[in-house]
Amino acid sequence: MAITGSLAVQGNVLNWVADHRRHHAFSDREGDPHSPWLFGTSPWAVTKGFLHAHMMWFFDRDETNHRRFIPDLLADRHIVRASKAFGVWVTISLLLPALLGGLISWSWAGVLTGFFWGGLVRLAICNHVTWSINSICHMVGERPFRSRDRSRNFWPLAIFSMGESWHNLHHADPTCARHGVLPGQIDISARVIWIFERLGWAYDVRWPTPQRLARLSGAA
Ligand SMILES: [Zn+2]
Ligand SMILES: [Zn+2]
Repeated sequence: MAITGSLAVQGNVLNWVADHRRHHAFSDREGDPHSPWLFGTSPWAVTKGFLHAHMMWFFDRDETNHRRFIPDLLADRHIVRASKAFGVWVTISLLLPALLGGLISWSWAGVLTGFFWGGLVRLAICNHVTWSINSICHMVGERPFRSRDRSRNFWPLAIFSMGESWHNLHHADPTCARHGVLPGQIDISARVIWIFERLGWAYDVRWPTPQRLARLSGAA
């Protein structure tokens, strides 16, 4: 899973998890690595906040303290190795589609086409969807559940983000395996976890229960 995730080229596993946990710890407050609400609420501040949360934070990031946020991962030598080899996964992520394009069409045009669509375009779309969770899903959408931050459910991205855009529930109940808990909320990631659970690869999975949801819903 660590290697597969690394193919999305969003930084190495250790940094990714550390930033993600810090986002939950300080969500939309000072210390959040990518909140759109750090600069104020004037039109200019919100525009700046959107760009910061969407992608600028990644290029101007302050390192998250690993010993504080991911001591469990630092103690896992497999994860540390997968994280250190990040450059290898990036290379594979970019070159494998080019190689496949070349082999399938047996032409240099196929190499270029594979590299462009399977490498660059795929990464651009994947990253913009992920970044939209940090920007749009903390700015636009519904807040059916109570959370300490400004996270929101933004339905237009449900399919593309594989359920991640039901972001309000994710912040209200971060350990819940399903983010799209209301009727009609498609959540592909939850289905993947469900399949892994059936295969015995995932265990102790926390699924939503009516009692849990009742506790989480309330004032927006
Ligand atoms: Zn999260
Ligand atoms: Zn968030």
